[in-house]
Amino acid sequence: MADAGKICDLLERISTLFRNEVRQAGLSRGLHPVHLEVLFYLSRCNQFSDTPAAVKDFLGATKGTTSQSISLLESKGYVIKTKDRQDKRVYHLSLTEEGKAIAAETMPPPSLRNALEKCDENQQSSLQQQLESLLIDIQRETSAGSFGLCKSCMHHLPKSETVFLCQLTQLELPNKFGELICREHQVQKIGE
Ligand code: SF4
Repeated sequence: MADAGKICDLLERISTLFRNEVRQAGLSRGLHPVHLEVLFYLSRCNQFSDTPAAVKDFLGATKGTTSQSISLLESKGYVIKTKDRQDKRVYHLSLTEEGKAIAAETMPPPSLRNALEKCDENQQSSLQQQLESLLIDIQRETSAGSFGLCKSCMHHLPKSETVFLCQLTQLELPNKFGELICREHQVQKIGE
């Protein structure tokens, strides 16, 4: 059996290098890592998940920290707030072109991008499956929200080559929406 301590050391080392590189990328733009995380999240989330409350849950940060981060990104012209059409108390957040460009340049960090490019398709797919399975187990154990990709959600029902049905909201949505992160995502039950 593999040594769990060694796997833990590897994950810890990779996450430290990952965070260091993200911090460096942010420094040159006057941003902290949490600001880049907000930009990255907003570049990948769907329309049910683009509120300040969803950003707070995704980051696992306090309301105050999240609100300060959003205000700073807004003042720099990277994020825009728009009122919800039905509920005027709710705001949606979106990225400006500049915000999108920063998210695309900094995430994933270039070293990880380069390392993954050296793996062939099978290796990447196997690594992805193993990490997904590890993440799902940890999320079950810690009761953390999954914030997974829509197409892997238990409510995602393919209808045709172009649309799927979200069984939670009963909305028919375009397939490209399936590639986004959703705060309502629920992992498939084992055996489904
Ligand atoms: S199918 Fe799941 S992940 Fe996709 S929009 Fe619906 S609730 Fe969110």
